Amino acid sequence: MQEAARVTEITTEFQRIYDLLASIVGEGYVSTRKAERFLYSRDWTGTTSLLSPVEPDFVVMPKTTEEVQRIVRLANRYNIPLVPQCTNLTSLGVAHSWEGGIRIDLRRMNRILEVNEGDMYAVLEPGVTWGDFAKYIDEHHPEFAHPGCHGPAGAGVVPMYLSWGMPNDGFLTGSAENIQGLEVILPTGELIRTGSAIASPYWFGRLPLLDITGLFVGAMGSTGIITKAAIGIWPKHLKSDIYIAAPNYREGLYQISKKLVRANLGITWFMTVNHACLASFGGQPNSNIPLDPEAAGQPDYHAIITVKAYSEKEMDAKLESLTEIAQAGGAAHISTMEDLLTSFPTENRSILPNVLNEPSQTYTIVQDGGLEYSGTYGPMDTHADFYYACRRLCAEKYNWPIHWFSRFMKGGHYSCIRPCFFSYDRNDPEEVKRVHQMAKDCGRIALEHGAIPYKANPWKMRLIAEKADAGSVEFIRRLQKFLDPKGIMNPGSGRV
Ligand SMILES: Cc1cc2nc3c(=O)[nH]c(=O)nc-3n(C[C@H](O)[C@H](O)[C@H](O)COP(=O)(O)OP(=O)(O)OC[C@H]3O[C@@H](n4cnc5c(N)ncnc54)[C@H](O)[C@@H]3O)c2cc1C
Repeated sequence: MQEAARVTEITTEFQRIYDLLASIVGEGYVSTRKAERFLYSRDWTGTTSLLSPVEPDFVVMPKTTEEVQRIVRLANRYNIPLVPQCTNLTSLGVAHSWEGGIRIDLRRMNRILEVNEGDMYAVLEPGVTWGDFAKYIDEHHPEFAHPGCHGPAGAGVVPMYLSWGMPNDGFLTGSAENIQGLEVILPTGELIRTGSAIASPYWFGRLPLLDITGLFVGAMGSTGIITKAAIGIWPKHLKSDIYIAAPNYREGLYQISKKLVRANLGITWFMTVNHACLASFGGQPNSNIPLDPEAAGQPDYHAIITVKAYSEKEMDAKLESLTEIAQAGGAAHISTMEDLLTSFPTENRSILPNVLNEPSQTYTIVQDGGLEYSGTYGPMDTHADFYYACRRLCAEKYNWPIHWFSRFMKGGHYSCIRPCFFSYDRNDPEEVKRVHQMAKDCGRIALEHGAIPYKANPWKMRLIAEKADAGSVEFIRRLQKFLDPKGIMNPGSGRV
């Protein structure tokens, strides 16, 4: 019945919108077909299926900035919700057509417009993927490193930064701090630039005018569609990956980590995982993982750190200092990544390096396919308390070994903390519900420890709003209303 009603609609007003979209992008790049709308109605995690999949009415793939601008103007004129996406691999419902409307898929806008070696930045269109970027930098600018991210090679570079994601050099660069300027189509259709590119042909930074770049960061497309972004790039250096384990976290690895982040050792990546997380990467089912590894006499916390140096001599000195600090802190194990691999079953040896390089494969080995997480950004200060509170809650209330994954960012000024739930059975509705409830509980615990959920979909936003300062929330809402008076941009995401 519902589908029949839709078809009737499509023959009248919908047909008109379809024709207008087709006149902008060409017949081949707009669709109202059921099969395509289905693909855009959900993502690969359990979240959207739990929050009910919603199909957009139209899917459209523009190629140029002008086409994006015309689509935005059209959506405005007809008051149609507009949700931008690159690959939607961020998942968790952040590019979800809660109210139907137009899904604008930006993957055809995939040009690397400029790499400026002198000022060390690249200007990218929003559909450039990590794979495209890595290949281009390796081939044309071999003295530079491409940051990379844990996301699949086919996922977008620009949306990672826009959504406060974690690049693999995040200890050096932070997250969206590495955006040096943007070109944006505002929700009302005007084109603007931010940062130095407002008044200079160089995208050298966000300075020195009023810094409006932030209006479009963390907004999940709710304040405009980015059509160009300048991203800082960094020189390539020698690199070593080091693994450290300590018997416990609070008095052990947490203290070592705090010392290491202050030691100026050329660290570019600092990831910590708990035993359950590492055991999952090693192929262990949850039933084999102790709920309290420390009580079971196992190190519960592990760090994987990338150190970079200009020369072999400098690298040796840095690794010597790193080892000294870790030993003084009581580390149970310090080795290179290669050595760590020997503790993995042979069939999973290829997995751990993927944690550093391309870990999508890692997630696909987890049994039953379910992955949910309650990602947050938070202070270093409460890190250990936050971890133990979540581990205890999941063990006692849900009999579940929480998978904990975090990264220290921007020289250790803040950290990305992810209580994760791997390997749950997506085909078991009770287990899906249980995991979702755990994610919510951990989101609450996060806020109690001064951390804030990120890439927030509506239920996370509701949690945040309960805690947030009312005056600030009101100001953000006013700004969003000013930018998007009709409220058409990604309704449901990026709004407090
Ligand atoms: C296995 C796996 C591992 C991952 N690991 C990481 C990780 O370690 N670090 C990390 O940061 N991410 C990670 N991700 C998440 C994500 O895939 C990456 O951040 C990715 O690079 C983002 O690109 P995307 O194509 O997925 O963005 P999308 O999901 O398409 O978009 C992200 C958000 O930005 C908005 N948006 C997209 N394009 C625009 C635009 N042009 N203008 C305005 N708004 C826009 C969307 O509406 C959405 O809200 C992982 C994903 C997977 C599947």
